[in-house]
Amino acid sequence: MDYLPVFLRLEGKPALVVGGGQVAARKADWLLKARARVTLVAPRLVPELAARAARGELAHLEARFAPQQLEGAVVVVAASDDGAVNAAVAAAARTRHIPVNVVDSAELSTFIFPAIIDRSPVVVAVSSAGAAPVLARRVRQQIEALLPARLGALARFLGGRRAAVRRALGPHGRRAFWERIVAGPAALEVLAGNEAAAEQRFGRELRAAGLVNAAGGSGEVYLIGAGPGDPDLLTLRALQLLQQADVILHDRLVPEAILERARRDARRVFVGKETGEAGGQKDINEQLVSLARAGLKVARLKGGDGYVFGRGGEELEILREHGIPYRVVPGITAALGAAACADIPLTHRRLAHSVTLVSGHAATDDSLDWRALAGAHQTVVFYMGVAQLPRIVARLRAAGASPGRPAAIVERATLPGERVLRSPLGEIAALATRAQVAAPALLIVGEVAALASSAIAAESGAVPAPAQCAERALA
Ligand code: SAH
Repeated sequence: MDYLPVFLRLEGKPALVVGGGQVAARKADWLLKARARVTLVAPRLVPELAARAARGELAHLEARFAPQQLEGAVVVVAASDDGAVNAAVAAAARTRHIPVNVVDSAELSTFIFPAIIDRSPVVVAVSSAGAAPVLARRVRQQIEALLPARLGALARFLGGRRAAVRRALGPHGRRAFWERIVAGPAALEVLAGNEAAAEQRFGRELRAAGLVNAAGGSGEVYLIGAGPGDPDLLTLRALQLLQQADVILHDRLVPEAILERARRDARRVFVGKETGEAGGQKDINEQLVSLARAGLKVARLKGGDGYVFGRGGEELEILREHGIPYRVVPGITAALGAAACADIPLTHRRLAHSVTLVSGHAATDDSLDWRALAGAHQTVVFYMGVAQLPRIVARLRAAGASPGRPAAIVERATLPGERVLRSPLGEIAALATRAQVAAPALLIVGEVAALASSAIAAESGAVPAPAQCAERALA
């Protein structure tokens, strides 16, 4: 590194610019932005500078350069169009140990002006150490395009609240709090220009964090839907939070390929059963609370979406009860993953005007309206234990569904070895047995099931070979 990038505080400090042309004007402008007291030394000024001098924004010494003019200056810029004058300025500044910038001469300079992105108070400085100023300016443009226009407003908003946060939170909680704020909705509101809404959200978050802090913990829980299995179907937010989590509680539906996307040193805890038993769920709830209380960021990673047959609701209740901060990240539920892979649109203008997701306990559930589920022009998706299949079919048939009603089973949707089986409802159970369907799988019943592509159909009678979603997409 040829130069150390630092930010100089020049407010109220004397700065000398030798020169009165356009180049001097540009340098003077930056010095004035930093609120330095600028004096220009030049026999003449370009009109722009003369106007600024007339308004009293800067002082004009109508003279040729003389070393004694440097008296008291904390920085000097040599910006005249006379090389000999610039060299004399540099020499005089060096003997007095005053930082000097000589325009277009890195050798004579003891400091250089970077390319600047000014979103004050956020300022980005880029330099190529004089090697390629045009390249530095291009880099500046590229960075500039990445930075929100209201970044400065956001920094001022946050800066104005530091004291309040310091009063409300301990040192450990503070950092986590700021990280959450900077990436959260309050910041988005500021960037969108809604400071009042931002203020409200900020206040709410700070109060919530303050309560937790008083209770002794500052951890939090992320309830993350991991999607149907293919890691590419994680959401961006799921990925971000998996990268932040200290510990990950996951169950059987979450494949290794997804866990591999988490932070390398995160602790993994397998919390068992695909369909949590009462005892198992109680144990998970307790773990969530105690890990968060210990100040950890806990990811609760669930197959599909946590709020679709995922017991996310119960975990949420517990977290609320204990005042533990949480974030919920939606995931692609198995029905959607299966529909996409099997080319079964769940609703369709001609074929299905509604879609119903039915739980795995359907077969034994007498509170369900089976007559309604057996009707035409709709799609019903059964999340199921495979063993339930014959009973589900029997109940639909008993409620009036015709044996010819189209049905499909999607096994291991979006996972390696995915299979799609299609047949009339009356034969689907036998087909599943023949094909040795195993969990996880779901049953789709309705006119749209007839559209399933690349499916193993009942009439073929063949033992199905794996048909993979991704491969079909390429074919
Ligand atoms: N919360 C999950 C569902 C959990 S219930 C979600 O939103 O998807 C478990 C049931 O989901 C399984 O018995 C199976 O019917 C279904 N399921 C989950 N992943 C699946 C997959 N990749 N392919 C087919 N069915 C799946």
